[in-house]
Amino acid sequence: MTKEFKKGTLCVQGGWQPKKGESRVLPIYQSTTFKYETSEQMARLFDLEDSGYFYSRLQNPTVDAVGAKIAALEGGVATVMTASGQAANFYAIFNICQAGDHFVSASTIYGGTYNLFSVTMKKLGIDVTFVDADASAEEIEKAFRPNTKALFGETISNPGVNILDIEKFAEIAHKHGVPFIVDNTFATPVNCRPFEWGADIVTHSTTKYMDGHAVAVGGAVVDSGNFDWEAWHDKYTCLTEPDDSYHGLVYTQAFGKAAYITKMVAQVMRDLGSMMAPENAFLLNLGLETLHLRMPRHCENAQKVAEYLENHPKVAWVNHCGLPSNKYYSLAKKYLPNGACGVLAFGVKGSKEDAIRFMDSLKLISIVTHVADARSCILHPASHTHRQLSDEQLIEAGVAPDLMRLSVGIEDAEDIIADIEQAMQVL
Ligand code: PLP
Repeated sequence: MTKEFKKGTLCVQGGWQPKKGESRVLPIYQSTTFKYETSEQMARLFDLEDSGYFYSRLQNPTVDAVGAKIAALEGGVATVMTASGQAANFYAIFNICQAGDHFVSASTIYGGTYNLFSVTMKKLGIDVTFVDADASAEEIEKAFRPNTKALFGETISNPGVNILDIEKFAEIAHKHGVPFIVDNTFATPVNCRPFEWGADIVTHSTTKYMDGHAVAVGGAVVDSGNFDWEAWHDKYTCLTEPDDSYHGLVYTQAFGKAAYITKMVAQVMRDLGSMMAPENAFLLNLGLETLHLRMPRHCENAQKVAEYLENHPKVAWVNHCGLPSNKYYSLAKKYLPNGACGVLAFGVKGSKEDAIRFMDSLKLISIVTHVADARSCILHPASHTHRQLSDEQLIEAGVAPDLMRLSVGIEDAEDIIADIEQAMQVL
């Protein structure tokens, strides 16, 4: 199904187009392997001379159909589906960085990604410099080195819900001859398509809105196909020079715009194997079929809750880009004109203990380590997702100690607000 269809049509019908007599619904190919008639046919697959399925660690028809849907939604050329969002962000960087390389990242990113970049990737010899995403281009550029290979950020940061100036980041990246990789988890392609603003690669934790029902952990890496690896031949030799582990294949020559994604499957997925399971892809596809209906409702509800919180005498502060008083209001109008997402951050007046008492009194809104779900939920990052970070790192990641991350679901806004109001009574 082509990119020309509108987003709602792609959500419902993208990826799987059954032929005569085939299952109308995307079937689950619950098979690790696929049959061939001759040894020669199989050999051609291993040499990447033919395309076809042979082993589900590399490719699987159910998983590929969902990947094609997400590629169409983002306006990209190809997608790799991964077992989690963590794997997606790791693969996106590791596909082009090796020991001795460096990349630059916005500091306001999900705590798990921050940890992956600052601790685990460092152990692999890949260095990161975190920058203040709101700083001027000149300031951010100071972080670049001759061995810098990528720039990374989140469209809407988790948990601070700051809005990234995508065009600014894309321009900085391209000025320094590196791709701009953006995690578009919270916005989803329904509300923002970063490729239209110059981003080169998009990642997702599909665990969030794309699934939307909290049933399957997953991730995706989508390539726009726009970054010219050959223009920076000596920097990206992993793509522009022969791959010894694939009989001297040169990805840019053999696969053109699909070079980055083909290498990710053929090399990184082959060796590290964080493939999405077919059943999870099936569940994710069900979620995607209603993504375009759910996102507007999340945004509408979050706007109502944000307005209620902003006017509440017991609330110290609210961060929601849909409020005209918000620092990111104009950036949101530019990049997310139809709404950002259902997530907002706020703090109540009083101590950290008051915030915890408030959360413990909620009845409809549940305390869970999750976000971007149909059901409203809440979390205190400093005590939960980000508890491994030092106070200094918390501030750098845009996480105030009193910050509560409220993920507004698609229930009735009046009931969500009534639940918050009754919990406020304990303060
Ligand atoms: N990126 C963002 C923006 C996230 O919010 C998360 C998880 O919360 C991740 C990546 C990691 O995704 P996963 O939990 O699917 O591994």
